Amino acid sequence: MILIKNGTIITENEIIDKGDVVIDASLISYAGKGKQYKEKFDKIIDASNFLVMPGFVNTHTHLAMTLMRGISDDVPLQKWLNEIIFPIEAKLTGNEVYIGTLLAIVESVKSGVTTVADFYFHMEDVAKAVKETGIRANLGFGLASKFDMDTLKLKIAEKFIEKYNNTENGRILASFAPHAPYTCTLKFMKAISERAQKMNVIVHTHLHETEKEITDFKRKYGKTPIQKLEELGFFKAKVNAAHCVYMEDTDYKILKENNSGVALNPQSNLKLGSGIPNIPKMIEYNLNLGIGTDGASSNNNLALIEDMRLTSFLAKGVSKNPELLPAKKLVEMATMTGAKNIGFENVGVIKEGYKADIILIDKNAPNLTPFTDPYSMVVYSMEPGNVDTVIIDGKIVMENREILTIDEEEVKKEAAKLVKKLLG
Ligand SMILES: [Zn+2]
Repeated sequence: MILIKNGTIITENEIIDKGDVVIDASLISYAGKGKQYKEKFDKIIDASNFLVMPGFVNTHTHLAMTLMRGISDDVPLQKWLNEIIFPIEAKLTGNEVYIGTLLAIVESVKSGVTTVADFYFHMEDVAKAVKETGIRANLGFGLASKFDMDTLKLKIAEKFIEKYNNTENGRILASFAPHAPYTCTLKFMKAISERAQKMNVIVHTHLHETEKEITDFKRKYGKTPIQKLEELGFFKAKVNAAHCVYMEDTDYKILKENNSGVALNPQSNLKLGSGIPNIPKMIEYNLNLGIGTDGASSNNNLALIEDMRLTSFLAKGVSKNPELLPAKKLVEMATMTGAKNIGFENVGVIKEGYKADIILIDKNAPNLTPFTDPYSMVVYSMEPGNVDTVIIDGKIVMENREILTIDEEEVKKEAAKLVKKLLG
């Protein structure tokens, strides 16, 4: 059992000052103040100087793309994908994906991220990295096919999902991740959704990222991808849709009616010149909004707090309404709403019975001084380096900014070697 005592705690409905959190195995067994304890704790953390809050949830990323960080900037999405990223990815081995994923997890944890929805290939190797590091993850098995039915690919994905979904005490979930409606046929997307419904797992996909995607689709089908997919029953599965930049009112309605999740990736959209998601419209439709970083090669880092802040600023700036998306709402999006969108039900809140995914933030940091409203500090002032301690599934993964589960220096060295080889 772990006792975190005397902290400023962000719980579901209130801020508790000088409060305690008790962790029993992987779960939070108490969050409050003034309790006397008879239990013997394995560890007591004095949180007098810390803000204690749920860890951040990154609802859309491609972890291993850390290996491609900074190798191609300032080009548009289709050129970036087809001429630079896809050719490198075609050569990536499982071990390279494993190292790139380890590096991404180190970076994520160090910025307070405790859960990620990854979306890639060589997923066995990703699973190995997730297992070893202790991060919580939904592993999206990346799929693309020019064929209407690619039975073999679906079978392999299904096997992977059966093997990993709901493993490691529920810390790992798995999902189908069809790349996009422009790299998968509609029939294939439909078949994937049907399998996902049967297996009760989510479908994680890219939707409506660029204007070209929409104009091409409308020319061909007279409808947007979301409208066409709805016709096929695609959204009967629980969908986590990344991007949603170019949308018609009907598209928002479809996502709302089907209770789908949206993963906003504003940094990636801006950097690739794809556009600006209409966040005020999404709020109007009351969509389930989570936040993602996308891969580190289109962002170019995995600090979710940056995308959280940008989401806030875009919502306010586009609507010319600073009251839109108050800081508390942003924190909810970046924690519990995001967790739900990617299939984790009791994650993202400091509350009895919830998973103990908790981060401690240094209230003495100059950029957080004076420490006033905790929500304001987190959304508008915090930096990744303010995260001191990270607990995931009741296990301390980082303490005093030191990763305890793997050797950070070794991972960075290995990754640097690999990148040299990939580019050479
Ligand atoms: Zn993506």
